[in-house]
Formats: sequence, structure tokens, C-alpha cells
Amino acid sequence: MKKLNLRSTIKNISFLILGIAAFLFSIQCDGQDNKESTAIWGQDPVVITPGNENAPPSDAIVLLDGTNLDEWESTKGGEAKWKLEDGGMTVVKKSGSIRTKKAFGDCQLHVEWRSPAIVVDDSQDRGNSGIFLQERYEVQVLDSYENITYSNGMAGSIYKQHIPLVNACREPGEWQTYDIIFSAPGFKENGEIEKPGYFTVLQNGVLIQNHVELKGLTVHSGKPYYEKHNPKEPIALQDHGCLVSYRNIWIREL
Ligand code: MG
Repeated sequence: MKKLNLRSTIKNISFLILGIAAFLFSIQCDGQDNKESTAIWGQDPVVITPGNENAPPSDAIVLLDGTNLDEWESTKGGEAKWKLEDGGMTVVKKSGSIRTKKAFGDCQLHVEWRSPAIVVDDSQDRGNSGIFLQERYEVQVLDSYENITYSNGMAGSIYKQHIPLVNACREPGEWQTYDIIFSAPGFKENGEIEKPGYFTVLQNGVLIQNHVELKGLTVHSGKPYYEKHNPKEPIALQDHGCLVSYRNIWIREL
């Protein structure tokens, strides 16, 4: 009787050990399964060649390489009348703003700009220009190096909507970069806004606008508001009567 009990106890313990081992093994397998299930294979992004020192990457559309104004036209219609010089182009006062012949929606835009080395005037009259995404939404260009003006109108502001996080301006006469990531607004059939636009902006490699929401088109006074437009619209550069120069402009459609 005793012998039988002992045998049955050993048998029970063996089953228990086997059970525990199986349980531990299954936990380990589950762990492996979980690790593997988060890995995504076969969806590698397109291989591109990044440019050196702000040169365009291989998949960019070059809008200005300094040799011609072929990608640009006057916003009044006809040829862009800005002056080609110093490997870029400079505003010709009173010739008017210019815009791209092509239209764009969501994009990454690289722009280099320079305000005049000789400082004349102050506040909004010093090195003022602007980059208008979809001809409506302005990232302000201004000589904001030791130049007092309203904060939501300084360089790198989403004009009258968002103050930049920091003032990353170089001295007047030096080339500066803007890298702009733009998410275009979307509209319903009836013209109502479906999704707002967003801006992220780096100036000279420094984040100055971090995914800020557009409140509508850029207006000088009063509240910004949305007005339905095409999903893709040109990019415009502003003639604000200051001799601002641009060079090395390229864009990647997203
Ligand atoms: Mg402006």
C-alpha cells in the first residue's frame, strides 16, 4: 500500500514538473512571437541620395539653382522679374511677388535667404519678404537680428499666428536656411474646413515651429480664416520692397 502511494506521489510530482516546464516554455515562445510580430518586413522606403551641405536630395524638385528663373512667374502674370545674382535671385522692388509655375500640397521645402548686409530701416521694413505656401500661408522672412518688431511678425513666425520658439537669426548679409514641413489643409465639398494645415519649421537647423496648427490664411489684420482652394497651389515669394535674396530652393512632395 505504502509502496503504491510512493509511486503515485512520484508520478504526480513528475506530471507537475512537466506541466511547469511546458508552461515556462510556452511563455518563452509567446515572448518570441510577440517580438517577431512587431517587426515589419518588405516595406522598405525608397532609397534616395541625400545632398551634401543643403544640396537637394535625389528625389527633390529643384525650384532655384541660381542659373535661371524658369520655375517662377510673376503673381501678376508673366515673367518673374527678379534679378539673378550671387547664385540666387534678389527681389526687384515694385516688380511684385513671384510664384512657382508648379503647384504643391503636402511638402518639405528647403529655402535659403539673405537679408541685405547694409541695414536700412527697422521693424517690418528691414529685410522683409515671405514664403507663402499655397500662396496663402506665410512663413515670415525678416531681418530679425537685433531688430525689434511684434513677436508674431518676426522671422520664422507663421505670420500673425505663431511666434517662433527661438530667434535663430544670423547677422544681416549672411545666408540662412529654412526647412519647412507643410501639411496642407483639406476642405469639404461645401467649402468648410475638413482638416487644418500644419507647419514645422527649422531655421539654420534649429526647430522654431513644432507642428503648429494653421488658423487660416495669412491676414495682416483681423482674424485668420479658411477659404477653400485647390489641394495643390503654388509657392509664392513676397516682394515687400526689401532687397532680400534667395538661393538653393528645392521641394519634396509628401
Ligand atoms: Mg513678409
